[in-house]
Amino acid sequence: MQFAGPGAIVWINYLTIKKIEFELQQSVDKHSKHLNRSKSGSKYSCKIIRFAAWTNKTKSFNMRTIAAYSLTIITIFILWDCHYQNPIKEAKTNTISQYSTLSALLEGVYDGEMTAGELKMQGNYGIGTFNALDGELILADRECYRVCSDGKVIKVSDTEKTPFAAVCSFAPDTIIQINQPVNLRELENRIDSAIRKPNLIFAYKITGSFDTIVTRSVPKQEKPYKRLIEAYKQQGVFTYFHQKGMLFGYKFPAYLKDVNMDGFHLHFLSSDKSKGGHLLNCYLTVGEVSVAYIRNYALQIPDNSHFNTTILTNKKSELLKIEGARK
Ligand SMILES: [Zn+2]
Repeated sequence: MQFAGPGAIVWINYLTIKKIEFELQQSVDKHSKHLNRSKSGSKYSCKIIRFAAWTNKTKSFNMRTIAAYSLTIITIFILWDCHYQNPIKEAKTNTISQYSTLSALLEGVYDGEMTAGELKMQGNYGIGTFNALDGELILADRECYRVCSDGKVIKVSDTEKTPFAAVCSFAPDTIIQINQPVNLRELENRIDSAIRKPNLIFAYKITGSFDTIVTRSVPKQEKPYKRLIEAYKQQGVFTYFHQKGMLFGYKFPAYLKDVNMDGFHLHFLSSDKSKGGHLLNCYLTVGEVSVAYIRNYALQIPDNSHFNTTILTNKKSELLKIEGARK
């Protein structure tokens, strides 16, 4: 679609040039006839007529051809501009679009306006939660799933809302093969040692066979909402064995800890879409880690009364306690 406009201009230019050629041919034919009729005239009058034909042709050529070729040059610039913008579009492929902040979630802001349908428009992979903290959210191949507090996985409708989610159109920059079994700490160390860019944001898609995988999900909360440190005491923890599936998630640097989780934050979805949750631990037998470097980060800030009246203080110690079951 982006080439429709320039394409139309090229077509108009082509028609204009063809029209000029046609008119020039007509002009030449007309003066040729005149010359034929004047063959009986003097050599001098023939030269005047040839000169008039040449002048007419030149004038027509100059005026219209300059206009046509100017349009062509403009078209080339437009096409060049489209071409030049492609690298920017490619870079934006790995933009994270996030709704709300981790600090708001920690303080119990569990209702948002962002829908699953809107998330899908902003990316094909992502993680988060649902309104009222009703389960873990995982977006995979542009389908949005809820991992319920009883461990069931269901596909949600586009109208389902989230208070906190981060999605991206995932395009990996690096692939790391995992050929030896690793536990979660070893897996994270392996990834970190392969990519020494501590101040970037990363998106990870880890596919493979898991000997063991431990996940959690949280039950739907009732108002008035408890803070996250309290709500997570009701979490369901699930241990699965011999699973094939995918982990997706992010690692944010410490300087962004108020807006998202610093360190690895991964959600699991089994290949058959029947098991999943927020990752607590795993033992990966064999797999592949796809890593995208994120250089663009779009944050959509909620504008509802709960968000606007909450003091957003990210208590790192509370987050560590919530994540305490890991490893
Ligand atoms: Zn999570």
